[in-house]
Amino acid sequence: MLPDALCFQSPAPLIDIGANLTHESFQKDLDDVLERAAQANLTAMVLTGTDRASIDASAEMTRRDTPVALYSTAGLHPHHAGDFDDSLRHFIEESLTHPGVVAVGECGLDYHRDFSSPADQRRAFEAHLEMAARTRKPLFLHERDAGSDMLDMLRQWRDDIGPAVVHCFTGDKQTLYGYLDLDLYIGQTGWLCDERRGQHLRELVVDIPDHRLMIETDCPYLLPRNLPAKLKGRRHEPALLPWIAREIALCRGVGEADIARSTTANAQRFFGISAAT
Ligand SMILES: [Zn+2]
Repeated sequence: MLPDALCFQSPAPLIDIGANLTHESFQKDLDDVLERAAQANLTAMVLTGTDRASIDASAEMTRRDTPVALYSTAGLHPHHAGDFDDSLRHFIEESLTHPGVVAVGECGLDYHRDFSSPADQRRAFEAHLEMAARTRKPLFLHERDAGSDMLDMLRQWRDDIGPAVVHCFTGDKQTLYGYLDLDLYIGQTGWLCDERRGQHLRELVVDIPDHRLMIETDCPYLLPRNLPAKLKGRRHEPALLPWIAREIALCRGVGEADIARSTTANAQRFFGISAAT
């Protein structure tokens, strides 16, 4: 259940490009979560595959008949990069042949927390870049506190890979401009709804061209801090995406419907999906 004050229908269809719906917190009420997302005017979502279990479970979910069209990604999160080996590479490659699996990732570099060594992270990321180049699938990238290395590696691969999105971008201006110079897409979450740590993003989001911006919840993480009602359990969910779209619209000085239309068109083009509108 969402409190009434949080039920908000987007004036135009939205696509959540990053939802971790295989997270255990969604196990009990997934059908309700999907129903609420449909009521909020979400027409599609891309489920994030971050390890063997979530790649499998996400791909499986895309097969179901659901009120919102589901797609998924297949990759290894940099936190788990130490586990990357040939067997996992084959598993990811095999998963990428599934019709519901639309991107390579999430993959990338995260130096914020040293769950895997930077050397392991670069090795695993390189393998994902190679898979994306070979399969021509778009890339779903994760980067935290590693902008410089990320840019270096992407520059080397730019001519070989297709479209790529830096999901949940939280970096600085220089890094953002570096990504835009490489013609990357940028994913924005509820991070920028946080007046304390998201202030720089509220200013930077204005600099992202219309045709390069996509939006995501990254649920169950990153619950927006400015919601008009408290949420028991503080679990973020796709039905709350319209609040993020509204905040971005406010920062950019445009209407909510404009943000919905452009981000949805971008997601459809990027992932090659045709969500009903
Ligand atoms: Zn991520």
